[in-house]
Amino acid sequence: MNCRHDFTRLLLLATLWFAPAIVQTCGAQRCQDADLLFRNGHIITLDGAKRVVGAMAVRDGRVLALGDDDTLAGCASSRTQLIDLHRHTVLPGLIDVHTHAMEWVKGILRGEIDARYPAVHSISGITQAVAHQAVTFPQGQWIVGSGWDDAKLAEQRYITRQDLDQAATNHPVFLKHVSGHLGVANSAALRLANITKDTPDPQGGVIERDASGEPTGILKDTAMGLITPLLPKDPSDTDVRAARLISEKAAEVGLTTIHDIFLSPDEMRGYQEARRLGWLKVRVQMSPRIGSIADAERLAQMGVHSGFGDDLLKFGAAKMFADGGMGARTVAIYPPGVIGEPSNLGVLRWTPTDMQKAHLLAAAGGWQLETHAIGDRAIDEVLDSYAFVIRQLGLKDHRFRIVHAGISTPAVQKRMRELNVVVDGNPPFVYWIGSWFQKYGPERVRWSYPARSYIEGGIIEAAGSDVPVTPLSPWWGIWAAVVRRELQSGQIVAPEERISVEQALTLYTRNGAYAGFEEDRKGALEPGKLADFIVVDRDVLAVPADELKDVKVLQTFVGGRSVYEYLAAGHVQ
Ligand SMILES: [Zn+2]
Repeated sequence: MNCRHDFTRLLLLATLWFAPAIVQTCGAQRCQDADLLFRNGHIITLDGAKRVVGAMAVRDGRVLALGDDDTLAGCASSRTQLIDLHRHTVLPGLIDVHTHAMEWVKGILRGEIDARYPAVHSISGITQAVAHQAVTFPQGQWIVGSGWDDAKLAEQRYITRQDLDQAATNHPVFLKHVSGHLGVANSAALRLANITKDTPDPQGGVIERDASGEPTGILKDTAMGLITPLLPKDPSDTDVRAARLISEKAAEVGLTTIHDIFLSPDEMRGYQEARRLGWLKVRVQMSPRIGSIADAERLAQMGVHSGFGDDLLKFGAAKMFADGGMGARTVAIYPPGVIGEPSNLGVLRWTPTDMQKAHLLAAAGGWQLETHAIGDRAIDEVLDSYAFVIRQLGLKDHRFRIVHAGISTPAVQKRMRELNVVVDGNPPFVYWIGSWFQKYGPERVRWSYPARSYIEGGIIEAAGSDVPVTPLSPWWGIWAAVVRRELQSGQIVAPEERISVEQALTLYTRNGAYAGFEEDRKGALEPGKLADFIVVDRDVLAVPADELKDVKVLQTFVGGRSVYEYLAAGHVQ
């Protein structure tokens, strides 16, 4: 589609004939016979010209034209459905480039203990829930839960195996931390997994031990892998049911595209089956996991790669982990170490040579790379590896991604800019888990999850919730990017990194589209792009910043089809 050329030619014709509609439709299609015509709205297009218009025509799942009500009147035919927006605000559908939606929703479907703040705020609250399951479950059955956060518990410490043993001795128990980077097991679970004082720490993991060398029950990063294979298998329809529930939950908060990260083969099958059954309402990029060089070899040999699929369901980037999490105090940093643990410089999951090998295999097989790296030492390891792969393969438009990039010092930002990597940032972290940053000292807090310096430095940042680490709703992230307030202290974290509402929306729209190689079809409302958009209950560019977290999505459209309606979902306006 040669837009500029058509535009000029049509502009000449426009003086003779029906000027306004032609000026608004860019591309081959004339604005006529629309399927849907939205009028009387406040449509924030987020296009290059930052246009705000009143009307939008949609045909065949794509935006046909934008303009004012009078201009677009000619787009309607007798079959066109006319929709009055009642001056409500419309935005492009939002994009979350980093979720663990499957993992999160499967926990809900399994009936696991939900130990997330604010519902739970003490260790005794959690052990009561464990004790309750211990009396109802048959002996020997696993008790599983997730979402606890030591920083938000009254006791301000990790749960221990002794805490859990008081609640359950005849049931193995495993409770995952909200960060996903550690879990706590009771003694019965440690016995089943043969974890004793003599068990060595696996590469990239820590078995925490007390003064006498006995395991405390806390297992960090890859050490969780000693327990997870023992957990009960899910019924075979779990993944497809999860995919259905995910798309409902995403549509409800205004997400029209999500990237689901580090998926297992069964989870990808679940998405594919949900798609076949017509249960998938939002668009999904599936990101397969690379946990070993063998995984990278298998992916490279598949003969399909990132981008394969269609606009509803496709392969996204291949995901690896370089280091751990701030909640587990395992992110890989340069000295000085964690406050109070000077020798703790975190963990690296891969040796540099193995990481390069895995990256090269996957990238040569056509996969976009995304690698979790929070500490600056981990980010440097990933950037070294990316630089090697880019050079080896002579890549021009790779869009390799650094996932989180939590401690993003000026030194690593400079390298990220030079290598043209994309940052999968997490604006809501500052609010929900900003208290964890403190353990890394004020200098690192200054560079934790920056946003303004990325914009000023020309680094493209897309945004993700990392659900279940923070809630799925992107409105938390949009709000947090603007105010940067931390939940517990109420303090503003690195205020110089605050950005405007429009910039925050860009992270969740245009930049998300770019990170997924989809800027030609989503991220803004423009003729020819997919008709993915949301109707919200307030003018997000005009309301006080603190209201951004309270925005309600009234309706969500994917490909011109309504997939969620606030009123139909039982809400009263
Ligand atoms: Zn993640």
